[in-house]
Amino acid sequence: MIEIRELTKRYGGVTAVDHLSFSVRPGQVTGFLGPNGAGKSTTMRAIVGLDRPSAGTATVNGRPYADHPDPLRQVGAVLEATPAHRGRTAYHHLLALARTHGIAASRVDEVLELTGLAPVARRRAGGFSLGMRQRLGIAAALLGDPAVLMLDEPVNGLDPDGVLWLRTLLKHLAADGRTVLVSSHLMSEMAMTAQHLVIIGRGRLLADISTAELIARS
Ligand code: ADP
Ligand code: ADP
Repeated sequence: MIEIRELTKRYGGVTAVDHLSFSVRPGQVTGFLGPNGAGKSTTMRAIVGLDRPSAGTATVNGRPYADHPDPLRQVGAVLEATPAHRGRTAYHHLLALARTHGIAASRVDEVLELTGLAPVARRRAGGFSLGMRQRLGIAAALLGDPAVLMLDEPVNGLDPDGVLWLRTLLKHLAADGRTVLVSSHLMSEMAMTAQHLVIIGRGRLLADISTAELIARS
C-alpha cells in the first residue's frame, strides 16, 4: 500500500506536484497517467525518498520508505532505463546486487526467468537494447521480492512482444497480492494494463477511478 497525502514538490519557481493525495492498493495494477511534465516521476521519486517533499507525505506500508529496515523488500522501483553495465553480464550485475543486499543468489535465476532474460544472462548488459535494459531494471527491482513494484514509463523502448509480456507480468504480480504502480502518458496502454487509474495534470489530481468505471462513463 502506498499513501500520498497532500504531497507538494517545488523546484525553484516550478510546482511539479501540488497538494496531491491518493492511495495505491495491493492486488491490482494502478496506472499513473498524465502528460509529460505532469509530475509522475517527481511523485515516484518522493515515494522512494529520492526527493524530499516541500510539503506532505508519501508512505509505503505505513511509514516513509527510508524508515523501513528492509527497503528493497518493500519497494522495487525502476525509475529510468537502467544504465548499461559495460563490463558485466546480466547475471553478474544481478548477482552483485543480490550480494550487496543480502539476497540469496538463487533469486537471481528466478528473476532472470521472470523477465525472460535467462537466455541472454551471460551476455554483457552494455550491449543490451533499451527493451532488454528495461527488463534488466525490472529483474533488479524484483530481486527483493518486494511488496510494491513501481515502474516509471516502462513501455518506452519495448517492442510489441515486450509490451504484451510486461502487461501479463504486472497482472500476475498484482494477482499475487502485490501493489503495482506504473506510470505512462498513454491512456490506451493503461486502459489495457491497469484496473485502477490515477490521473494527474500539472501536479494535481484529476481522477482516481477504476478503469471499468472510466470506460463505462466515456
Ligand atoms: P512527468 O514524470 O510526469 O513527466 P516530472 O515529475 O518529471 O513529470 O516533472 C514535473 C515538473 O517538474 C516538470 O515541469 C519538470 O520540468 C519539473 N522538474 C522535474 N524534476 C526537476 C528538477 N530536478 N529540477 C527542476 N525541475 C524539475
Ligand atoms: P566467470 O565469468 O567468472 O567464469 P561465470 O559466468 O561462469 O563466471 O559464473 C560464475 C557462477 O555463476 C558459476 O557458478 C555459474 O554457474 C553461475 N552462473 C553464471 N551464469 C548463470 C546463469 N545464467 N544462471 C545460473 N547460474 C549462472
